[in-house]
Amino acid sequence: MKSDTLVLGAGIVGTSIALHLALRGQSVTLVDRRAPGEETSYGNAGLVEAASLYPVAFPRDFRALLDVALGRNPAANYHLSALPGLTRWMFNYWRASAPDRVLIYARVMQTLLSHSIAEHDHLAALAGAEHYFREGGWLKLYRTPQGLDVERREFPLARQYGLTAVEKSVDEALELEPALRPVFHGAVLWSDPHSVSSPGGVTKAYAAHFERLGGRLVQADARSLGAIPGGWRVETAKGRHDADRVVVALGPWARDLLDPLGVRVPLQVKRGYHMHYGAQGNAGLRRPVLDEEGGYVITPMEAGIRLTTGVEFARRDAPKSPVQLARTEALARDLFPLGPRLEPEPWMGCRPAFPDMLPAIGPVPRRPGLWLAIGHQHLGFTLGPVTGRLVAEMMTGADPVADPAPFAPGRFG
Ligand SMILES: Cc1cc2nc3c(=O)[nH]c(=O)nc-3n(C[C@H](O)[C@H](O)[C@H](O)COP(=O)(O)OP(=O)(O)OC[C@H]3O[C@@H](n4cnc5c(N)ncnc54)[C@H](O)[C@@H]3O)c2cc1C
Repeated sequence: MKSDTLVLGAGIVGTSIALHLALRGQSVTLVDRRAPGEETSYGNAGLVEAASLYPVAFPRDFRALLDVALGRNPAANYHLSALPGLTRWMFNYWRASAPDRVLIYARVMQTLLSHSIAEHDHLAALAGAEHYFREGGWLKLYRTPQGLDVERREFPLARQYGLTAVEKSVDEALELEPALRPVFHGAVLWSDPHSVSSPGGVTKAYAAHFERLGGRLVQADARSLGAIPGGWRVETAKGRHDADRVVVALGPWARDLLDPLGVRVPLQVKRGYHMHYGAQGNAGLRRPVLDEEGGYVITPMEAGIRLTTGVEFARRDAPKSPVQLARTEALARDLFPLGPRLEPEPWMGCRPAFPDMLPAIGPVPRRPGLWLAIGHQHLGFTLGPVTGRLVAEMMTGADPVADPAPFAPGRFG
């Protein structure tokens, strides 16, 4: 079977690329070993961000680092055994987290983030997935005046980009979210972001629309990828799938395929957990709520109130160690009347991340027809559709929605 493009990985990134190419009349085969949207793109907090201007940076001051090292920061955890393999990556992450570089990051990411909501809206309307989306922004809570002060530093940049961040007193925050308890000092409502009640459902809806347009969805192991004269081939039990080009959108699993091909990229993972809970009585949430110092987000989802944790530095395939979930659940129960856990075991997923915190989007130098769309770290659900548009425009020679240069895979040498 021959198509113009193979897309490997049917998370939000790969699915959006496949759909955008199909919308431009390209023949596309989308390959995944599972059904679409069942891995990282299923388990996230469902935020379609417009407002996270600064990245989730590596701690720069000694005290913050010490808190992480001593397990005093509920937002972070690490496996000691993973650190030797992460030293170089962490050093580069630390360097990229310097204040001047964070500003450059913010400017570059804004070229994509400023399209995130419009691009989701566009695909959701085509795919009939609008019912998953809600407006109302997200509410960030601060337990200390110092925490709120840090957040205020983002306001000037937000104003520059036309984003709305409004400080709320405790009472005002409780008017927005009446089920919360006043265990915090202050709040900020970022009103531009949207959120969804099922990120996996959204991804599946986009994939279904791709199939309605004639796109082929194939269940196969992408590691069977090999170069053939003038193109690329994936082998499955049921046959071969050839194409002129291939896009690797395997998220945290991209290096399983790229390392054997000799394509070296500094991709690592930041693991995270989630659990769904019932709510006591008729308590509910209207939007995602971040407890900044508590280190977690609670979001209303179809499946219940989803609590997502911060970052765990560990090997991708190391056994789960949901200590952050235990720590943050206790804090979340103070804040909101969570009911019982709804699943026997926490979900664990991996944010695919480069040390410079930017995704890699575009062709691989000196590998004709090989493209990457990986490393969307904390913002992959947000950026899937705009990444899809960018890749499709680059491939078809249209004017790109954003300058692709800062995201070029060639930046790793
Ligand atoms: C706890 C947590 C909270 C988050 N919250 C948010 C948020 O609120 N907003 C936001 O924008 N982002 C959020 N993120 C980040 C976001 O979820 C990811 O960046 C995004 O889902 C990555 O999408 P992807 O398509 O690159 O990867 P994935 O969704 O992981 O897709 C990769 C696909 O590749 C497939 N695959 C892997 N190996 C193979 C193989 N050998 N053969 C075939 N197929 C294969 C997998 O089955 C999978 O479907 C969060 C992440 C976590 C962990």
